[in-house]
Amino acid sequence: MSWLLVVILAWFAGMQSAWAQPVPHGTGGAERLYVLYCGDIALNDASSFTPGASGPGALSDTCYLIKHGTDWLLWDTGLPDSLVGRPEGMKSNAGVWTSRKTLESQLAEVGLKPSDIRYLALSHSHPDHVGNLNLFPQATLVVQKAEYDWVQPFGGPRFEPEQPAIKAEGDRDLFGDGSVTLISTPGHSPGHQCLLVRLPKTGAVLLSGDAVHTKANWDHHRVPERNFNVPQSLASLDRMAAVLKENNAQLWIGHEVSEVPLRKYAPQYYE
Ligand SMILES: [Zn+2]
Repeated sequence: MSWLLVVILAWFAGMQSAWAQPVPHGTGGAERLYVLYCGDIALNDASSFTPGASGPGALSDTCYLIKHGTDWLLWDTGLPDSLVGRPEGMKSNAGVWTSRKTLESQLAEVGLKPSDIRYLALSHSHPDHVGNLNLFPQATLVVQKAEYDWVQPFGGPRFEPEQPAIKAEGDRDLFGDGSVTLISTPGHSPGHQCLLVRLPKTGAVLLSGDAVHTKANWDHHRVPERNFNVPQSLASLDRMAAVLKENNAQLWIGHEVSEVPLRKYAPQYYE
């Protein structure tokens, strides 16, 4: 190996560790996890997300709020708050979106204003996950670079260029203390990610995003045909299974309606 190659490799290794530096944060680890109601999705055809299902279907839409020391991190922003008060809802390409409670009012019940959110981490950029991005222009986005760089179907960026952003490339221990870790799970979209949260009493929880939509899909190891990349999506299911095992973690599937009654919702929280 030439000395030049050694120097280049050393520089590259240094850059790698610089990229993986923990984000600025206050003291303390992940203390609380709040589950937030982020709308309801009625599907014309359940099989569009659950292969093999028949007839109409339903998906829940869930966001999560994490208190990390003195900082607040929001995971996904759900359907738009503007749906509240519109019982007819809004038509999407697969069904109808409705919402009966705003994200903003749920933050208020916890004692927060949107401007108190320091980090806005997103599983991916589909509209039922980014419906309230406009509430948080000051927050630092935490997304995979592959998602950030993914152009819209009709061209143009998915995020406002002036919004501060951390563009992760692969897994990332966000605060450097193992309490909140991005798990790269591409396939549903180019830069999809899950979030592994380690809580003092509850233990480890893996938040699915749309890497899996329903428990039936998880149990049968299958993904929607409409996913961006189906083989990559299946590989991500394997990755999630490994992460669950390694961390003795629970899997929480944000779109699974049967999980809704199992969770306590904000202002209650998990410790
Ligand atoms: Zn999606």
